This record gives sequence, C-alpha cells and structure tokens, in this order.
Amino acid sequence: MLISFKERIREKLLLEKWKVGSSTDKPLTDNQIEELVINPPQLCDEPQLCESRHLSDNGCICMRSVFENENQFNQWKSAFENEFKKRLFVGVDISDIEI
Ligand SMILES: [Zn+2]
Repeated sequence: MLISFKERIREKLLLEKWKVGSSTDKPLTDNQIEELVINPPQLCDEPQLCESRHLSDNGCICMRSVFENENQFNQWKSAFENEFKKRLFVGVDISDIEI
C-alpha cells in the first residue's frame, strides 16, 4: 500500500490525539458498553483497503469514529472479551474441564 509521507504524519497525529482523548470525553456508560457488546462496531469495511488501519491498526479512523478515545475502546474491548469467554463456556460442565 502506497501512503504518502504527509498522510502518515496526519494519521500519526490523529491517532495520538485519539489515544490521549479530550477532557470533555466521558467514559462509556454501562448501557453503552452493553449495547456495543451486543452490536459490536464494525471494524473497517475492508481492512485491507483501510489506509488508516494499515498505519494505526486498531486505532484506525473507523474505530475512532465509534469511540471518542482509546480509553473507551479499551472499555469496550475488555467487556467484549469477557462476554466472549462467558459464551465460550456456557453449557460446559465444570467437571468436564480437565485441570
Ligand atoms: Zn479502518
């Protein structure tokens, strides 16, 4: 993927800004987190074509349009992972697991 130097700099600045967030950003509420766990935000429509993703990975512009800052993204990510683990073990009897 060919990305201009100017574009790389711009992306880097936007990513840094997103990571830090703004003082007016609020953490996601439990309701918002729940909603996002049930309806997970779409990553890039086409990750291969997302220039921003190529440069910023999970902090790409598509994610930045859903979460105000990285903190919110992490809130959602850990809630989502917990939910996923829970579902993974639903229906599994604890005595079936070899320890
Ligand atoms: Zn993207």
